[in-house]
Amino acid sequence: MSAQVIDGKAFAAGIRDKVAAHVARLTADHGITPGLAVVLVGEDPASQVYVRSKGKQTVEVGMNSYEHKLDAATSEADLLALIARLNADPAVHGILVQLPLPKHLDADLVINAIDPAKDVDGFHISNVGLLGTGQKAMVPCTPLGSLMMLRDHLGSLSGLDAVVIGRSNIVGKPMAQLLLGDSCTVTIAHSRTKDLPAVVRRADIVVAAVGRPEMVTGDWIRPGATVIDVGINRIERDGKTVLVGDCHYDSCAAVAGAITPVPGGVGPMTIACLLANTLTACCRANGLAEPEGLTA
Ligand code: NAD
Repeated sequence: MSAQVIDGKAFAAGIRDKVAAHVARLTADHGITPGLAVVLVGEDPASQVYVRSKGKQTVEVGMNSYEHKLDAATSEADLLALIARLNADPAVHGILVQLPLPKHLDADLVINAIDPAKDVDGFHISNVGLLGTGQKAMVPCTPLGSLMMLRDHLGSLSGLDAVVIGRSNIVGKPMAQLLLGDSCTVTIAHSRTKDLPAVVRRADIVVAAVGRPEMVTGDWIRPGATVIDVGINRIERDGKTVLVGDCHYDSCAAVAGAITPVPGGVGPMTIACLLANTLTACCRANGLAEPEGLTA
């Protein structure tokens, strides 16, 4: 068997088109343009690349992008004061603080200072609680994008066995909550799980969010299972730096029914879902109908 490739790049382009069409209508009919503020503290090279890409895609779908680049030595008080200003600014519908923050800043404190209605990353404790209790929340972008691809590929997820490998607050835990919300039977596996290959072999859906290059191999995969590879790992191969996922692509693709590649799978969906969340936040703030198919 050779797995169907789930093309995250094409899927993300479709999401961006939907967002752009809805933004155009909002602007034409109501004179409202969604605005996303991204806050970057320090000069982490990977974060700078992400922030640039977020800003560019925000403008491309017709939204306003506000970038706040702060010095690495910025005090917590100054960062909290900026967040308070953005919370109060009616032109800003989404606020994202790029993580990781420099060590002297308390990330939990900073994230929880964001107005939950503008928390487009879905990391605020209120949104975590809303998601966990099945209420309308802002949903973290990477798990949301993974869910959209699963729904698109499989239709109903009800009753399927899902194994999420990884229990981080930004991917593993919210992913498990979303799958539970779609009536999967969910197992969360992690670094202390006993006989991980046997646990993964039970799954109709495998979501790997570990950060270990090519850890999941084809002999762990049940034939026909759907594999969502969230991992992004840079490794040296044949003298070149290449990106690989947490799944060993060739051996998993030989067994799975469908699989997301790395790059070009989950990665592009993350920013597309950030734009979708910003649009959703804008619609909610203005009491307007939310776009269909762009939320959990
Ligand atoms: P994390 O380090 O916060 O969490 C990793 C999780 O993996 C932990 O819960 C840990 O228990 C588990 N783990 C570690 N070693 C394990 C092992 N040997 N067996 C089983 N479980 C193990 O990482 P994260 O932030 O959740 O990110 C995970 C991966 O996803 C990384 O490669 C990251 O780069 C990638 N990521 C991609 C996107 C995207 O847009 N595609 C977004 C976020 C994260």
